[in-house]
Amino acid sequence: MSKLVAKCGIDCGACPWGPYPRKGMSAQDFEAYKRDAKRVLGHVPIKTPCVTCQIPDDKIPKTSKLPNKRCLIRQCVDKAGVENCGYCSRFPCDTVTETAGAWNRESIEVKLGASLSEEAYHSFVEPFEGLARLEAIRDSLKPDKIVDPAKVCVPKIRLADFPKNLPFSKDEVSSFKAVYNLLANIERSSFGLKDTDTFAQQHKLKKQRAHVLRFLWLLGAYGEFENGDTSRLVVDAETYLFNRGSEKSLAIWSFVDGVIFKLLSGFGVCCERLVLDGLLKEELTTGTGYLRKKGWVMSMSFDAKIGGKNALEALQVYIKKLAKEYGKRAFQRFCVADMHVLSAA
Ligand code: SF4
Ligand code: SF4
Repeated sequence: MSKLVAKCGIDCGACPWGPYPRKGMSAQDFEAYKRDAKRVLGHVPIKTPCVTCQIPDDKIPKTSKLPNKRCLIRQCVDKAGVENCGYCSRFPCDTVTETAGAWNRESIEVKLGASLSEEAYHSFVEPFEGLARLEAIRDSLKPDKIVDPAKVCVPKIRLADFPKNLPFSKDEVSSFKAVYNLLANIERSSFGLKDTDTFAQQHKLKKQRAHVLRFLWLLGAYGEFENGDTSRLVVDAETYLFNRGSEKSLAIWSFVDGVIFKLLSGFGVCCERLVLDGLLKEELTTGTGYLRKKGWVMSMSFDAKIGGKNALEALQVYIKKLAKEYGKRAFQRFCVADMHVLSAA
């Protein structure tokens, strides 16, 4: 095991993005190495190597893209004042599990649909088996070396009151109330994350909530009821990608499928990416997993228990009114379920 372990347990000494494996390689060899990394991992090591994440922020050259100063794990570990997550009493939290547990022999072989050669495994996969490395570190520690992570204040729930005396029929008001309840449930939920009093987990929760709300907003603002079918809203690929705001993750299919769809289904929201005729699923994403601008549409429907199609229509009416009234600030009001804009109908 290399001694140069990242805060998330990845082996900086063998990481293809780091400075060491490429040392002494000719330009031609490095090109071949990049191609192999892309084939195995789906990502290409960047030209300027990472200076490794144990380097303090003020020593990271301005031109370095890596390490990521905003990495939640790096910040959380620094706040705890330890070397890596193995020393933390909450280890393994969801944040480090997701990062350091994503790439391992099994997950990569499943993705490739083939066995890895020993050489490919040791060069490109083993360095990323951070969880196993952290577990080994943890097992070697005496109990007095384990520390509690830095805590953060859990923010107060921010929700507007549901407006009284809306100028709509009783049924329409109850559909708006269903939308309000959905947004309120999302705001109150911890999305199944534990340890949300820690820096990393609190930020993860905030990010996931922002992504989920942006997805709902996107479908409500730009989705259409096709051919009179009001049971689902549908948005085309280009419109979806163009309007995803600053949420880069909403363009990554594995994140949308594995995180957003899963989280929303827990609230009774059913989402699906529909493949257009004549295309294969594999053709809908780039080699690095980003959704392409054509070949699919995104659809969303509501379960009967959260108001079904009437609530879906109410969501669209509400979002369109917010957008018309508040423009760029409308999404902020949506996030706190501020429905007072409906009072002016
Ligand atoms: S990308 Fe991460 S694991 Fe790789 S060298 Fe940088 S800090 Fe280390
Ligand atoms: S709470 Fe922070 S320090 Fe602890 S395991 Fe998670 S990311 Fe690492």
